[in-house]
Amino acid sequence: MAVQQNRVTRSRRNMRRAHDALVAANPNECTNCGELKRPHHVCPSCGHYGDREVVAQTGAVDLEDDAA
Ligand SMILES: [Zn+2]
Repeated sequence: MAVQQNRVTRSRRNMRRAHDALVAANPNECTNCGELKRPHHVCPSCGHYGDREVVAQTGAVDLEDDAA
């Protein structure tokens, strides 16, 4: 294992960590339901991507029918 030769000072450590901050997400409004969603992702609340519904929502699927 590599062992460091010199102590990293608080200053150097903090300078290294200056770039470690998380950046905030940049949500878009869903064009179908207006809910905030991640860009280029299917809307988690209505299942639409663009103008198409690509993921059926649990409320829309009858589980009794699908089980057969
Ligand atoms: Zn939506």
